[in-house]
Amino acid sequence: MPVLMDARENYSGFLPRLQAAGARVLLLDYDGTLAPFHADRMQAFPYPQVPPLLAQIRQQGTRVIFITGRPAGELAKLSGIHPPPEIWGSHGLERLYPDGRHEVMALDEPTQAALHLARDLVARDLPQARVEVKPGGVAVHWRGAGPSEVNRLQENILQLWRPLTESQALRILEFDGGLELRAAVWNKGHAVKAILQEAGEPAAIAYLGDDQTDEDAFCALKGKGLTVLVRTESRPTTADVWLQPPQQLVRFLQDWLRASGGEA
Ligand SMILES: [Mg+2]
Repeated sequence: MPVLMDARENYSGFLPRLQAAGARVLLLDYDGTLAPFHADRMQAFPYPQVPPLLAQIRQQGTRVIFITGRPAGELAKLSGIHPPPEIWGSHGLERLYPDGRHEVMALDEPTQAALHLARDLVARDLPQARVEVKPGGVAVHWRGAGPSEVNRLQENILQLWRPLTESQALRILEFDGGLELRAAVWNKGHAVKAILQEAGEPAAIAYLGDDQTDEDAFCALKGKGLTVLVRTESRPTTADVWLQPPQQLVRFLQDWLRASGGEA
């Protein structure tokens, strides 16, 4: 799939649809998409122009939803957007509504037991700060480590976790800055499909994401909305458009705001 170079040219066809739509939904990944990476993941704040633009976009009636690999509650604090928008956390396994209601999908016993084992296997050798346990998954982060350390960590973890994926109930996801073993029952694509169903036909929808875990979401939205890869360097993707952050991302959000009747 070719990645398109002139970003605005390639979403200009979407803007009139956005303008005419009865409902607008903007689906956003967070890390790497709205917020640059930081060695300390609790310090990964959005590009400064993003929170005020999203606030204005919401004021103009767009339903803004975050879909993230992080636990939902973590993002509610980090994003700098008050009140926080709806957040589908842990790759969509959790749903945190703007009014504070929180839903978590239940996992079966064998999957939970396998996740506990996955955590114990990596926690033996790694500092606590590198291991994250969240609903439906265990992640190992290597932000801040040098290339040889990253290779060593990656090899070790794959060796420990691969046997746990044989039942197909768990899968290993690569993301920028680490690896995660996750319950396969639910991913970002499932979250997008659920939101599409709720939104109904006349809605104009876009999804913005940066890494491999966003490809499930791009596939789920393909042909039904605009899919946007936000990333400094291009890579093979099913997304319709490639935007380089922060400038092209900010311009896209400004275009969205104008198309929905606001002033950028
Ligand atoms: Mg991301």
